[in-house]
Amino acid sequence: MNWLPPYRTLAQSGELAERVKVLQALASPCRLCPRACNVDRHEGRTGTCGLPCGAIIAAATVHFGEEPEISGTHGSGTVFFGGCNLRCVYCQNESISQGAAMRLQTPASASDIAETFIELAGRGAHNINWVTPSHVVPWALAGLDLAAAKGLSLPLVFNSSGYDSVETLKLLDGVVDVYLPDLRYSDEETARDLSGVDGYVAAARAALVEMARQVGTDNQFGPDGTIRRGMIVRLLVLPNDLAGIRESLSFLRDELGTGLRIALMAQYFPTARAAGEILLSRPTSVGEYQRVVELAERMGFDNALVQEIEAQDFYRPDFDRGREPFADADSFRPRTESVPAVHDRHRG
Ligand code: SF4
Repeated sequence: MNWLPPYRTLAQSGELAERVKVLQALASPCRLCPRACNVDRHEGRTGTCGLPCGAIIAAATVHFGEEPEISGTHGSGTVFFGGCNLRCVYCQNESISQGAAMRLQTPASASDIAETFIELAGRGAHNINWVTPSHVVPWALAGLDLAAAKGLSLPLVFNSSGYDSVETLKLLDGVVDVYLPDLRYSDEETARDLSGVDGYVAAARAALVEMARQVGTDNQFGPDGTIRRGMIVRLLVLPNDLAGIRESLSFLRDELGTGLRIALMAQYFPTARAAGEILLSRPTSVGEYQRVVELAERMGFDNALVQEIEAQDFYRPDFDRGREPFADADSFRPRTESVPAVHDRHRG
């Protein structure tokens, strides 16, 4: 019998619909994410993420620029949700995460969201990849419930900044197949300065532990080599050691083990308001990135994904293009298949 994602069973039993109701209640007053703005989004009020009820689909495409086991050969069915619960000065997606125009858009209905997932599946995507979903979980889940009833059977990837509430995550237990969180900082003051958030480090660390509890760190794969269940933690190497990666690696080693799949991201470049921040106003250097790679190896991480520094020239979405944010989605394909832009420091 073909593999089916566990959310199919939850959808059939009515459990997904019940969880949607519980999650919607968490938005009134809103504590869907660790900000706990306590605004009533059902009454049209907005908190830091800028959205009342509902999810906005800013872009949806088959994307080849994710980790190899996420993109595979046919791409990841990536859905970029508008709005965000962080306020990063260097946000690569600022026009959809923090832009005023985004907030004025009409939220997508559950059936629109479901159709988007199904359309991506029809394009051959290996998975459905929710990008920045933390503030729209109830409405994205309602779409998943409808899509599951229509036969969607791809793994669900939850691709977030890591600033997720454990309470919300617990309601995704058995729903999310693959967690793909960032761990951006190890110092609360830096998180406050660069992402406008209090308590990021504590919240993200608790979230990652909960994610690992749900899906484990011993990743499982389908016959085509794409991931079906598990977790990948992304560490973006910022210039001038602003991300505090040594401390984040220490936390990951101690709590989740050195077999954890980590992606060491070289792609930082100054964008959005970063040009005005002296320490962020240049790309990460080759030397800075290389030191992080060597550090991870010395600490025993044997399942790391390492990029070439040229990654700074790729993976740059342009959301003015509409739902297809990459000028040529297929342009990612050769880099992961025939050019060694990504090195897999995989055990064994
Ligand atoms: S989801 Fe938005 S409104 Fe709700 S707590 Fe988070 S930032 Fe605030």
